Amino acid sequence: MTQTGNPDKRWLDPDVAPFIEFRGVSKTYEGIPAVRDVNLSIYQGELFCLLGGSGSGKTTLLRMLAGFEAPSSGTVWIDGVDVTEIPPYERPVNMMFQSYALFPHMTVFDNIAYGLKRDGIAKPEIQTRVDELLLLLRLKDFGRRKPDQLSGGQRQRVALARALAKRPKVLLLDEPLGALDKNLREDTQLELIKIQESLGITFIVVTHDQEEAMTLATRIGVMDEGYLVQTDEPHTIYEYPSSKYVADFIGDINLFECVVTEDAGSASSLYCAEIDATLEPPTGMSAPINQVLWYAIRPEKMRLSREPVTAGNVLSGVVHEIAYLGDFSVYWIDLDTGFRIRVSRPNISRMDHFAESWDERVYVTWDPDAGVVLTQ
Ligand code: ADP
Ligand code: MG
Repeated sequence: MTQTGNPDKRWLDPDVAPFIEFRGVSKTYEGIPAVRDVNLSIYQGELFCLLGGSGSGKTTLLRMLAGFEAPSSGTVWIDGVDVTEIPPYERPVNMMFQSYALFPHMTVFDNIAYGLKRDGIAKPEIQTRVDELLLLLRLKDFGRRKPDQLSGGQRQRVALARALAKRPKVLLLDEPLGALDKNLREDTQLELIKIQESLGITFIVVTHDQEEAMTLATRIGVMDEGYLVQTDEPHTIYEYPSSKYVADFIGDINLFECVVTEDAGSASSLYCAEIDATLEPPTGMSAPINQVLWYAIRPEKMRLSREPVTAGNVLSGVVHEIAYLGDFSVYWIDLDTGFRIRVSRPNISRMDHFAESWDERVYVTWDPDAGVVLTQ
């Protein structure tokens, strides 16, 4: 199979065949569904993130790709081959587990070399490959140490090196950074991207952390209760979530339940009882009168003002709480109906005149196109 087109966005090119495919894959355990009818194509060289809450089916999907679980229905394809019946050790896939247990009695070098020795690879070749990986993962001086003489981040890199040693075409990582603290996690995320890019191997990373997925991924697949509910590039998932679930799961968002009161093709309006306001929907939205839908608007896309405003969508309320978060502040505003919204403002100046406005009446405005309308 040939891979052509823009190497960065192969999923947009209809002439490029997917490298990995789940076709109608479901998995039930004793009648209880864990993964439901997943159709997903992943392309060579992607760093694809499966994102979802605990129990949403992420690990199960990964295990079916690795061959540790058989689908209850559907097929799994790698590089144009149906691998559904192929055992794990014959698939060009390696998995780094959630708890990346290293062999405590072996040195770093031997941990990384383990799989290669077992495969009977010649000693000089093992030496070359392990040395390469030690260099790539910044472990050059640690080859003779034992795992308990390493930091958490270093142990994580040894586990990654071990998983890469056999040069899999696809590396599956299940919550790879779960054991690291926040700062180390962020550094390691960037490192993971660098490693993935330099090797060109397809990575599929499972995470429940939306920021991590946003940082790492070429594309994100969001899972909810076994369903793959949206697959898109990170910015698309953030700006154009396909459902309330995705909108709410990724980042912060204000969601208003509304009903369509007018629909003249290009000029519709929505009435939202819980905020007692008529809103102008994004340009081009058209929906039948009386349809119920949700208007979603992110806190950073709204502006705060002390003066009444007339243009665009406007709400008015009283500042209930302000959280100073350094680079920006979040304002919780109670509308007159009692509905609470959040608005965020970047802290551009130290002398911010909005910094102390508890209990003050404010106006919140935004461009109608800054919101999205959701029907599910
Ligand atoms: P995630 O990785 O997203 O947290 P999992 O794929 O581990 O979710 O689990 C999805 C669902 O399948 C959960 O309800 C879980 O309890 C169930 N499940 C996973 N593995 C098994 C198993 N071996 N036997 C029975 N149920 C399982
Ligand atoms: Mg899991």
